[in-house]
Amino acid sequence: MSETTSILIKDTTILSDKIKKASILIVDNTIEEISNDLSVTDASKVIDGTNKITMPGLVNTHSHVAMTLLRGVGDDEELQTWLNDYIWPKEAKLDEKLVYAGSKLAMAEMIKTGTTTFNDMYFYMEETAKAVEESGIRGVLGYGMIDLFDDEKRKQEIKATKNLIKNSHNTANGRVQVAVAPHAPYTCSEELLSESKKLANKHNLKLHIHVSETQQEVNDLEKQRNQTPFEYLDSIDLLDENTIAAHGVWTTDNEMKLLKEKQVSISHNPSSNMKLASGIAPVSKYIKNDINVAIGTDGVSSNNNLDMFSEMKLTALLQKVNTMNAKTLPAQATFNMATENGARALGINTGSIKEGKLADIVLVNMNVPHMIPVRNPLSNIIYSALGSDVDTVICDGQLLLEDKKLLTINEEDAIYDAKLAAQQL
Ligand SMILES: [Zn+2]
Repeated sequence: MSETTSILIKDTTILSDKIKKASILIVDNTIEEISNDLSVTDASKVIDGTNKITMPGLVNTHSHVAMTLLRGVGDDEELQTWLNDYIWPKEAKLDEKLVYAGSKLAMAEMIKTGTTTFNDMYFYMEETAKAVEESGIRGVLGYGMIDLFDDEKRKQEIKATKNLIKNSHNTANGRVQVAVAPHAPYTCSEELLSESKKLANKHNLKLHIHVSETQQEVNDLEKQRNQTPFEYLDSIDLLDENTIAAHGVWTTDNEMKLLKEKQVSISHNPSSNMKLASGIAPVSKYIKNDINVAIGTDGVSSNNNLDMFSEMKLTALLQKVNTMNAKTLPAQATFNMATENGARALGINTGSIKEGKLADIVLVNMNVPHMIPVRNPLSNIIYSALGSDVDTVICDGQLLLEDKKLLTINEEDAIYDAKLAAQQL
């Protein structure tokens, strides 16, 4: 690393576990000091924070970022048709170059809409790791293993994950972490699931998996094993505090107890669940049961973007209408889901603006018509803001976006390359 760098964000409105006005000093990759009378004169960079809401970078806990190339593919189809007839045939044509182009485009989009950490599951993940390294964002990357109950395929999949661990884990100044990512109970054999957990334990890695996304998945498993998805995963010792389960739409009351006891984190993906008509996840019940629940976008072809601001708003609104109670999931709880709950799920020292936390910080412009007046910054962030209001992004103490301009990615090139790549699918 180069010599010590420091960034001073002056006189801003900080939104974290509470709202306050102060200045923030970042030294290297850490939030060094938050105070009203910071007397720093030699900061290498000073950012004027007036008229800005300064908040933690958003944490997207479930994505398949290179799927940006499949934006608009298979709209308005249900999950199994969508996968079998639209997505998997195109994914079979993917290669390193295409995944790199899709990842780079995704990072441009994520940074511009305030995401600084994402938890991804896909293919050719070394390419995504390269894009993370170059773009300055933070990524937890898992190779999506699918063996479809075939022995040979299982061995290849485990090998691919071992290679990813060897090549990419804990690279880019720690910004790239590797997770073990068996796709789902209905695409992975019991052997693959068990080996995945052993591998994760051996290297102390997170395990990222889709669970209980559709009613069909639950019904099929109950027929085959007389167990629900989380009961099945628990019976093979897959559930603990290092497990991140995406979706959890059809979770039963018995499974709730299991998730709490094992301290599993859930990634809730409202856009994807609505678009694929998978159902409504019992988010308010998770929270009542003291289960850590975070937010994810899922892949772009079931969303169709990576904007965590719209995901926050949808999370809150969907739970309110689902419970027919406007008090369900108030703004602070939703905000926590997209920030500190996500950081907790991934085991990264980010997700809040506090001294000693990693400097992953986003500044949002308050001075636009749809944000006026600012009676309550938290309310504006959850219910009024758009991802495009993000003005400045800092990740790991490095400026990635300033005045809405990407500093580490050539936006024009990323768009051009992605258009070309999408044509090849
Ligand atoms: Zn997914």
